[in-house]
Amino acid sequence: MNLLDKVREAGVIGAGGAGFPTHVKLETNADYILLNAAECEPLLRVDQQLMELNTDEILKGFEAAGRFVDAKKAIIGIKEKHKSVTSKLQERISALQLQDYIEIKKMPDFYPAGDEQVLVYELTSRIVPEGGIPIQVGCVVLNSETALNIYNASQGTSVTEKYITVTGDVPNPLTVKVLVGTPIIDVLKLSGIEKFDDYAVIDGGPMMGPILENLDGYVTKKHKGFVILKKDHHLIRKKSLNLDTATKVNKSACEQCRMCTDMCPRFLLGHSIEPHKMMRAINYAITDIEGQKSAQLCCQCNLCELFSCQAGLYPKLANLHYKEMLAKLGVRYKSSKTEFSTRAMREYRRLPSKRLIIRLGLNKFDKSAPLTNSELTAKTVAISTRQHVGAPAEPVVSVGDKVDAGQTIGKPPENSLGAYIHASIAGEIVKIEKDLIVIRGD
Ligand code: SF4
Ligand code: SF4
Repeated sequence: MNLLDKVREAGVIGAGGAGFPTHVKLETNADYILLNAAECEPLLRVDQQLMELNTDEILKGFEAAGRFVDAKKAIIGIKEKHKSVTSKLQERISALQLQDYIEIKKMPDFYPAGDEQVLVYELTSRIVPEGGIPIQVGCVVLNSETALNIYNASQGTSVTEKYITVTGDVPNPLTVKVLVGTPIIDVLKLSGIEKFDDYAVIDGGPMMGPILENLDGYVTKKHKGFVILKKDHHLIRKKSLNLDTATKVNKSACEQCRMCTDMCPRFLLGHSIEPHKMMRAINYAITDIEGQKSAQLCCQCNLCELFSCQAGLYPKLANLHYKEMLAKLGVRYKSSKTEFSTRAMREYRRLPSKRLIIRLGLNKFDKSAPLTNSELTAKTVAISTRQHVGAPAEPVVSVGDKVDAGQTIGKPPENSLGAYIHASIAGEIVKIEKDLIVIRGD
């Protein structure tokens, strides 16, 4: 079996939160393979710790993927503030004699340095076309944990564990490795909080993560962090607003200062996105489908809503408003541009993470979250069939079957985008529901 088949059968997906099946990224030839080690979401602490602990495995997984896609160069993008991880990487690159292939590029500490298109520009000076993907400019991008999973897949190990930071307004911020399918509430309680009546939980980083609607779910391969905050925290109140209410608020007070546009990371890459125009369209009920198509270029980084707009408005949701409208009409943005260049002020408009964290009201919680050997053992796990981009996995087991840890329990439908799923514990299949396969441990 070649690397691509091993990665597919091990169920490797983008571990940074997107969940795109990794084997699809390997079905190509590229000029560069890039390791996204920026970890730009405030408070999350998975990638740096993993790279310090599993340096060789991550480097080997990254190299193997790079060689597989014929990349002539492999570049690790890491923030310059992560000095000890960078030295460790440098030392092991030399020890493994990979210095002719893998290079480290240090990036300033700004948000969103880990946005795939921003990263591609920072590391290669190439600009992904608007509405496009990195391979269009010869790049494949992998997250650090994904590279670790590629290495594990090459050794025959499937993805049954996930690294997660649990942090926020909690006594015991930490990062843990947990089994896929573990009840989320058990993971949250490791933070030292037992009762969650006064708390809300952000699923992912504080910038892009949504609020978890209920805490009864199960860990998937996509989870990266849980940020626990009091319900009256400004960020929770802001994120709790629904699209209809935000649209009403947006109609009231936009002063068309265009800060949302001028600081937008995708606008700064030369893309045609201009959220202030979506705000204007909402305010004046402008019906200009052609002009509103650019809303589809938004990557939902949330920088405009949570930092740029001094009036506290919702330009990202204005984009979303038009995205949804255009999706209903079946209208897609088609770029007429073939060449892109960054806006003149880009270098000075990259938002320092420290300023962002203060604006978010998270500076008190910007602490280490040490990787801890968790005591958590799940007696029953529930494995989602929808933990990746693409079609849900179809069960290949039946109720009553005995399974081993690591055994395949679901596969994507034939000729569909999707990912394999595996048992994370040995036991018996006790339930198969629409979206879940439940295993009771031996
Ligand atoms: S949404 Fe905010 S930042 Fe954007 S133009 Fe209106 S007031 Fe300015
Ligand atoms: S969320 Fe706002 S800042 Fe981010 S890409 Fe969309 S419009 Fe630009």
